Amino acid sequence: GRSVPRWALTSHPQVQRALLELTVSLETLHEVKGHMLEAMAKGLSQQTHEEATVHMLPTYVCSTPDGTEKGEFLVVELRRRHVRTLWVTLPGDGNQNLQLKDQLFDMPEDIMQGKGEALFDFIAQCLCQFLDGAGLSNPQQRLPLGFVFPFSCRQTRLDQARHSQQGARPVQHRVPTARPCSPQGELIAWSKDVRCSDVEGHDVVQLLQAAINKQERYQVDVVALLNDTVGTMMSCSTEGMPCEVALLADTGTNSCFMAEGCHVEIVEETSGRMCVNTEWGSFGDDGALSSVLTPYDQSVDQESQKPGHQRFEKLIGGLYLGEIVRHVLAKLAAEGALFSGTAAPALGTKDVFKTQQVLEIIDDEAGLAAARNTLQALGLAPSEQDCCHVQQVCRAVVTRAAGLCAAGLAAILSYMCRSRELERLKTNVAVDGTVYRGHPRFGEILHRITKLLAPECTVTLVPAMDGGGRGAAMVTAVALRLAAQRRELDQILAPLRLSIADLQRVQALMRREMDLGLNKETNAQSSVRMLPSYVRNTPDGTERGDFLALDLGGTNFRVLVVHVEKEGVRMASEIYAIPQAIMQGTGEALFDHIIDCIIDFQQKQGLTGQVLPLGFTFSFPCRQLGLDKAVLLNWTKGFSASGCVGNDVVQMLREAARRKQHTGLDIVAVVNDTVGTMMSCGYDDPSCEIGLIVGTGTNTCYMEEMQNVGTVEGEEGRMCINMEWGAFGENGCLDDIFTDFDRMVDEKTINPGKQRFEKLISGMYLGEIVRYILLALVEKHILFRGKPAPKLQTRDIFQTKFLSTIEIGADGPRCACSDGLALRQVRGVLHELELDASFEDSVLVREVCQTVSLRAAQLCAAGMAAVVEKMRESRGQTQLAVTVGVDGTLYKLHPRFSQHLQHTLRELAPKCFVTFLQSEDGSGKGAALVAAVQCRLAQAQGQQ
Ligand code: ADP
Ligand code: MG
Repeated sequence: GRSVPRWALTSHPQVQRALLELTVSLETLHEVKGHMLEAMAKGLSQQTHEEATVHMLPTYVCSTPDGTEKGEFLVVELRRRHVRTLWVTLPGDGNQNLQLKDQLFDMPEDIMQGKGEALFDFIAQCLCQFLDGAGLSNPQQRLPLGFVFPFSCRQTRLDQARHSQQGARPVQHRVPTARPCSPQGELIAWSKDVRCSDVEGHDVVQLLQAAINKQERYQVDVVALLNDTVGTMMSCSTEGMPCEVALLADTGTNSCFMAEGCHVEIVEETSGRMCVNTEWGSFGDDGALSSVLTPYDQSVDQESQKPGHQRFEKLIGGLYLGEIVRHVLAKLAAEGALFSGTAAPALGTKDVFKTQQVLEIIDDEAGLAAARNTLQALGLAPSEQDCCHVQQVCRAVVTRAAGLCAAGLAAILSYMCRSRELERLKTNVAVDGTVYRGHPRFGEILHRITKLLAPECTVTLVPAMDGGGRGAAMVTAVALRLAAQRRELDQILAPLRLSIADLQRVQALMRREMDLGLNKETNAQSSVRMLPSYVRNTPDGTERGDFLALDLGGTNFRVLVVHVEKEGVRMASEIYAIPQAIMQGTGEALFDHIIDCIIDFQQKQGLTGQVLPLGFTFSFPCRQLGLDKAVLLNWTKGFSASGCVGNDVVQMLREAARRKQHTGLDIVAVVNDTVGTMMSCGYDDPSCEIGLIVGTGTNTCYMEEMQNVGTVEGEEGRMCINMEWGAFGENGCLDDIFTDFDRMVDEKTINPGKQRFEKLISGMYLGEIVRYILLALVEKHILFRGKPAPKLQTRDIFQTKFLSTIEIGADGPRCACSDGLALRQVRGVLHELELDASFEDSVLVREVCQTVSLRAAQLCAAGMAAVVEKMRESRGQTQLAVTVGVDGTLYKLHPRFSQHLQHTLRELAPKCFVTFLQSEDGSGKGAALVAAVQCRLAQAQGQQ
C-alpha cells in the first residue's frame, strides 16, 4: 500500500484536521471533472448558455498557426498596471526566427478607475509613442494590430472567413473584401480590480480603433481581439504538433481549447473548429463545488470584492492562495496549535500572506527557511515545528489548487476526445501564469492528476512563452492568413457559384435548344438533339410475358431475363465487364463480345434454345427510325469503337449473332436508358413521364405532344423524346458558365468540345473538376501549406465517389452532426491520395466538393425546369404534377445531390410539382417493358 503521508505524522490534531479539510480525494476530483463537463455543455448549448456559470465564449479564432504565417504585426496588451506594445515580425519559416520589439508603459493608477475614454486614449498614445521610436520606413503603411484584452468579452466575429459557408440556396457571387472584417467584443464585466466607466457593454475594439484614429498619426487596423489565454495557446503551437488547449494559473485562472464548430451553438457555424474561452473561473458559482469548499474558502470569499462569484478561481488563482493559507494559519493560531499558543494578530490582516511566499515555502530545499522569514516578517516567532506545519499547509493548498486545475483540464480533454470521436487524444497543452511558474510542484501535480482523471488522453504540458505578446501576434497573423486564404478561395470558387439569375438563363437556353431541336428545319442548329424514341405509350400494367434485356451504355454491361407477371416484375441478371480495349477497339469486336455474353447468360439461366423478345438499352445518342432501328450518332462516356457511328445498332447486333451462329434473338426494341428508366418507374406510377439519368453521364427524356415533334410524321398522342441533353452547350451557348477548370477537364477527355453540359454534372467528371481546383489551390499555397501534391497530378485519381464520402455529414442538423467524423472521412480520402491534410485543409477540400456538387445539381435542375415548364405549357395547364423516374449512382449515392436538385427546381419552376422516383434497375427492366408494351400493342392489333 501507500506510505502514510508525512503530515499524518504531525502531533497536532488541529493541524491534521486542517490538512484533511484541504485534501481533495481522487474520487472527489472525478466528481469535479464531471460537474465541469456538465457546466461546459451548458455553456455551449444555445438554450442554456445565458444562465451557465462557465460561459464558454466563442473567440472566433478558428485555426492554430501552421508555420506559414508571415509579416509584421502590432500588438497592444492591456495589463492590470501596464500597457505593453509590441512589434512582431514573422518570417514565415515556421516561426523559428520570430523577431520582437516591445515597450512597457506604466499606467497611472487613476486611469484604471476613471473614464473609459481616458483609458483608450492612453493606450493609443502609448502606441503612437512606441511607433514614433520604431523607425518606420513608411509611416503611411497600414499596420494590422492584435489587441490583448484580458477581460470577459462577448465576441461576435474575427474575420469573414467563417461567414461564407454556402448553404443549399444558390448563392450570389460574393465580392471578396480586401481585409478581414474587424472583430467585435463587448465587455461583459470588468474584473481584477479594474473599474473604468462607460466600457461595460461596449465594443472595446471600436473604442480602441476610435482612440487610435483620433490621434491621426498612424494607419492601424485592429484585426484581432483576444484574451491572454488564447494568446497562450497560440504561442505554443509548433508545426506538426498543434497546441489546442491552454491553461492559465495566474492571478486568476482560465482556459481555452479548440472546440468542434458544430458544438459552439451560439455561433452560426457548423464546420471547422473554434477556440472557446471557457471563463472557468466562475465554475462552482451555482454550488457545484460545495464538496470541496472549506470554511477557509468561505472566509476568503466573504472578504473578496465579489462574494459568491468566481468560486473556482478563488481556489486556484494567485490572488487567493495566500489568503487561504492566512485563514488556515489564523484559525490554527487561535486554537493554540501554532506559535506555542501565543496570539498572532498579524494574521488577521488581509493580504499579508502572499501567494509568492506560499510558492517559496513549499520548496523542499529552501522552503522551511522561507517559512521562517515570512513568519518573522509578520512579527511572529515560529518554532522549527511551526515552520513545518506552515509548509504542510502551504503544500496542501497548492496541491489542492493543482488538483482542481487538473480536474478542469481533464474535463476539457475528455470533452475534446469524445466530441472528435477519437479513442485517444494526443495534444499539447500550453500552460502559463504566476502560480504555475512559481514552483515546479504545481505543474508536476497538474500533469500527474490529469493523467489519472483523463487516462484516454496523452498530454504534454508546454510552458508558454509570452502568450500576450508572441501569441497575440500569432492570432493576428492567423486571422490575416485565413482572411487572405478565404479571399483567394472565394476568387477561385466564385465562377462556380451560380446565382438564381444564372440558372434562369441556363433554363431559358435549354428551352430554346429544345424548341430548335424539335423543329425539323432548325434541328441541326440545336446542341440538344431531341431524338424521337418511337415509344408512344407508358406501361398500363396489363403487360405480361418473359423478355430478355441488354443494358449497354455505362460502367457495366448487363444481360437480364425479365418476367412480367400479374404479381409484378421478377428478374435475374449477370454483369459483364467491357474491357477498355473493347470499348475503344472495333465495332465488330464490341458486338461479338456482347453476343458471347448473351450466350453465356442463356446457358447459365437455362434459356438456351428459347426465343424471347429482346429489349436493348443502348445509352448513346441514336437517331431512331423505328422502335427497332437506331443509328448511332456518336459515342460518349469513354466509348469509341470504330465502324459504328452512322450504323444501325440493331443491325450490328444481328450481324454479330450471325457471325457467332446464334439464332435465338428477337430484337423488338432499342431504347435509351432514360427511356428505360421512365418506363420502369411508369409501371409503378402512371404519372411518370420523365426519365433522368445522373450516373457516368447525364441525360433526360420526357413525353412530348406529337404535334410539337416536327421530326416525326403524325399529330396524335405523345412520343417519348430522348433529349441527349448531355450535349447541351456544344454550340457555345454555355460558354460563359464554363470555368477554367471545366475547360481543362474537357480538353483531357476523348471527346473535347462535346457533351459540355454532361461534363459539368455527371460522375465521370465531377472528381476531375475537384482535382483541378485542388491543384490550383495547392499552387496558390492555400492547401497543404504549399507543399506539392504530386499524386494529384494523376488523371481521375480524385474519384467522384470521394465527393459523396467527403460530403456525408456536412451541413447536417446541428450537433446531431458529427463534424469530427465527417472531417475525418475527408482526411481519410486525402490520406489515400498521399496528401497530408491538416484540419483546415479538410474543411477547404470539403467546401470545394460542396461547391462542385451543388453546381452540378443546380444545373441539372435548370435543365429539368425547362422540361417541366415546357410540358406544362404544351398541355395548357396552370399547374403540372409529374413524376421523374431517376437512375444513376451519383444521384442515388451522393448525400446532397437530390436535395439540391429538388430545392432548386422548386425555385425555378414554381408552378410544377415534381416527384422524383428512384428506379430499381431501370435500364434493364425498362427495356423489357418497352418490349412488353410493344408485344401487347401488337397482340391487340392482331386481335382487331
Ligand atoms: P452508368 O451511368 O454508367 O450506368 P452508374 O449509374 O453506376 O453507371 O454511375 C457510375 C458513376 O457513378 C461513375 O462515374 C462514378 O464516378 C459514380 N459514382 C460511383 N459511386 C459513387 C458515389 N458513392 N457517389 C457519387 N458518385 C458515384
Ligand atoms: Mg446506368
